[in-house]
Amino acid sequence: MLSYTEALKIIKENFNLLQDKIVEVRILDSVNHILAENVYADINMPPFDNSAVDGYGVNYNSEIEEWELIGEESAGNYIDIFVDEKSTVNIMTGGQVPNSCTTVVPLEDVIIEKNRVKLKNDVSIHDGMNIRRLGENIRRGDLAISKNTMISTHKISLLAACGKSKVKVYKPLKVGVLSTGDELVDVNKVPTGDKIRATNLYSIIALLKKYHFESVNLGFVNDDRNKILKKVREALDSDIDILLTTGGVSVGKYDYLKEIFEELRVERKFWRAFIKPGKPIYFGTYNGNEKLKLVFGLAGNPVSSFVNYYVYLLPAFESKFGIQLTEKFNAKLLTSIKKKDAKRHFIRGEFGYSFEENCFEVKRAGSQSSGNMVGLSDSNCLMIFEEEKRMMNKGEIVECIRI
Ligand code: AMP
Ligand code: MG
Repeated sequence: MLSYTEALKIIKENFNLLQDKIVEVRILDSVNHILAENVYADINMPPFDNSAVDGYGVNYNSEIEEWELIGEESAGNYIDIFVDEKSTVNIMTGGQVPNSCTTVVPLEDVIIEKNRVKLKNDVSIHDGMNIRRLGENIRRGDLAISKNTMISTHKISLLAACGKSKVKVYKPLKVGVLSTGDELVDVNKVPTGDKIRATNLYSIIALLKKYHFESVNLGFVNDDRNKILKKVREALDSDIDILLTTGGVSVGKYDYLKEIFEELRVERKFWRAFIKPGKPIYFGTYNGNEKLKLVFGLAGNPVSSFVNYYVYLLPAFESKFGIQLTEKFNAKLLTSIKKKDAKRHFIRGEFGYSFEENCFEVKRAGSQSSGNMVGLSDSNCLMIFEEEKRMMNKGEIVECIRI
């Protein structure tokens, strides 16, 4: 059986082979997309010397503390005014600073008497104060935001400042999600007898939405070989990039998916990897209509498929686009945790910041059963418990993934 690292390597290699599609979108539709072009400054920023404060522009002379007010520069209404050492202009924040002004004295630091502007007693000034210089943020032609950057909201003002009303982004990968199981009923039904609600569809689609994939809800099918075959065939013939199934890839009598994938000529890359939860993962590739598709068969247990997403799909997506989305951090373990096997475990944990200890602290959260959604819901991170270790001791620093 493959180790986690080996399995992830194979998934990453194949993610990298997925075709990129680049589309141009309006700037406001680009939020949470990955930039597919380098964006350069088409102008100097700022485009002219301007004042950082509301105040008085003067031609600095250390001996002079009083000036005659001779004019006004408001933002966007520049007038060419010459200021000698004894005169001053009222400049608003963002107003262009005349060449003859070498410093801007803040409004709060002066007293105005008729047309005389006087420095307050306790205030000292120096040359070059409060002027934002032409091009000091970025020069025309310089790289502003590089290709393969996630366009978060804090990048939008710079994109706009570069005149990018439209930007090139990678079209999000389209992921079809299908659940299988005779026991499943839709979440708007009350399950009776031996039925359960098909929660995986929602959990996985929510994760896809959170991390910039486009999702297609393919619903759920019973453990009926022909029905599953038909659904999977339709999905593989559609325009998705990735098919993600949950349930039916284990060793149960009705776990048909592996043979169905084989029948439909999905090339198996591996089945199962040595982790917990989420061991029974199937991964393969499909070449139809000259387009590569990736096929993930994830275990039905809700925590398994959730963890699989964080530890396989997300890192592979990050590696394909050269971005960082997984939030890893170190935390001090509050209780010792044991394991008996050589699998890599992803322990559901609950972390918080300790102001006394000045670090993050983490403890095991609720139930670790891969079928227990309450345990998952009570957690906010996954602690990485490596293969070779059998014990993580109280007080030890452990690596965690925020979920
Ligand atoms: P399987 O991988 O099909 O053997 O399923 C493993 C466990 O996950 C079983 O207890 C199933 O009832 C449960 N399960 C399967 N599919 C889902 C689903 N879509 N939502 C919630 N639980 C599921
Ligand atoms: Mg099943």
